[in-house]
Amino acid sequence: MLAEFTIINDPLRPSICTNLCSVCYRNNEHKKIGCCSYEPEFCLFDLAFLYLYYPDIYELILKNGQIIKGYNGIMLEMKTGLNQCPFVCDIGCVLPKDALPPLCRLYICRQAAIFGPAIIEEKFDEYFSSKEYQLNNLLNSKLIYDQDFTRHRLHNFITEISQTVNTMISGINRINLPIESFKREINIVDFGSLL
Ligand code: SF4
Ligand code: SF4
Repeated sequence: MLAEFTIINDPLRPSICTNLCSVCYRNNEHKKIGCCSYEPEFCLFDLAFLYLYYPDIYELILKNGQIIKGYNGIMLEMKTGLNQCPFVCDIGCVLPKDALPPLCRLYICRQAAIFGPAIIEEKFDEYFSSKEYQLNNLLNSKLIYDQDFTRHRLHNFITEISQTVNTMISGINRINLPIESFKREINIVDFGSLL
């Protein structure tokens, strides 16, 4: 099989994908969703970005998500009662790549990454020095969070802060994004058995 990796070097919302996910070693006859059984968690910057560029997705997440304190500050966790992510289907994720939270955009499991370029792990680490990470920290520092915090208050915060965010990211050139592609012939029986 020809394993393919694509890195989209979006200066604001970078992403990595591989066709190995469509033949994930974790799939079985009952479930073909790879690692998308976990809860995607949208941080404040994700929410502001979605509010500005994907308002329908924003509304869906706000309506169904659960507010948590996560690895990236205050977040909306999007599963609540389901046994898989609501955005996954047999052919992958239905969301646009730049609408995804950082983990979904940048995580490639080690069993797949072993067939790709070494730069994959660096791309994930780069998130923690990225503009979007800094902006997310900034939004968290401005949010007043207490035990009475509600989705309504979260929505008010996002609507109020979104124009400031829009101004901050408006100078970032996201047109004609540089894309890196890597291809490698692999023996599919090795997938999931080399580590
Ligand atoms: S990242 Fe790895 S575990 Fe997740 S779907 Fe892709 S191949 Fe499967
Ligand atoms: S949002 Fe998409 S990539 Fe993330 S867990 Fe759900 S289906 Fe998978």
